[in-house]
Amino acid sequence: MRLVLFGPPGAGKGTQAKLLAERRNLLHLSTGDMLRTAVRNETPVGIEANGYMTAGELVPDDVVNGIVAETLAEIDHTGFILDGYPRTVDQAQFLLDLLEENNAPLDAVVSLRVPEEHIVQRLSRRRTDRETGEIYHLDFNPPPAGLRETRLQHRADDQPEAIRKRLTEYRTKTEPLENFFKAKAHFVEVDGMGGLDEVRERVEEALSTIETTA
Ligand code: ADP
Ligand code: ADP
Repeated sequence: MRLVLFGPPGAGKGTQAKLLAERRNLLHLSTGDMLRTAVRNETPVGIEANGYMTAGELVPDDVVNGIVAETLAEIDHTGFILDGYPRTVDQAQFLLDLLEENNAPLDAVVSLRVPEEHIVQRLSRRRTDRETGEIYHLDFNPPPAGLRETRLQHRADDQPEAIRKRLTEYRTKTEPLENFFKAKAHFVEVDGMGGLDEVRERVEEALSTIETTA
């Protein structure tokens, strides 16, 4: 199954992508994670991306398209979940062209709906385990007792100013993708409010509808 998880920053894409990838044995591809690794390793891509990411701005399309094309070339195209990509119409067109060339069309775009007032609350209390990449929330999905505090990372772009910028970027550059996807892919909307398991069940339900209609 080839999926895109779509939605605003903080909607729960990473959280749901990990659960889904594990259950269905799919590869979880997060452009945010790939870019953060590139920044840490100070690769040319990382050096170029760093300033944009800290400011909460989108990294230029050609940089992100480049890493996605490289990654997809290395794997087979039978099963993946793209999380945080595409984020612009140009990226989406690039992806659809790439998949078409490989005779591996997308099965669905799953859009997680979360109202904006909840986004800020989710992002500002998000913490990530530096060692495992596990995503926590101090209130809604707290880290296990005993996990060393130094392992928990509060991302620089999860501070108020960068959050505001990311939401503006989302509204102006990413949200318009909804209409693009509605026209060109199987676009399903899922309510992203409620507990992690509740949302996971809704995503599974949406996917089973696709599987039975495929
Ligand atoms: P979130 O979904 O929580 O907003 P991500 O980890 O997906 O965060 O992305 C973090 C940052 O990485 C973004 O704010 C942006 O700077 C960059 N980034 C990730 N994916 C893309 C993309 N597809 N296009 C452009 N920039 C991206
Ligand atoms: P995204 O990848 O879309 O930016 P994340 O999966 O990183 O989103 O989730 C953002 C924050 O919201 C994290 O702190 C995560 O633990 C929390 N979160 C995810 N799903 C839910 C949910 N259903 N209810 C409450 N908080 C959630």
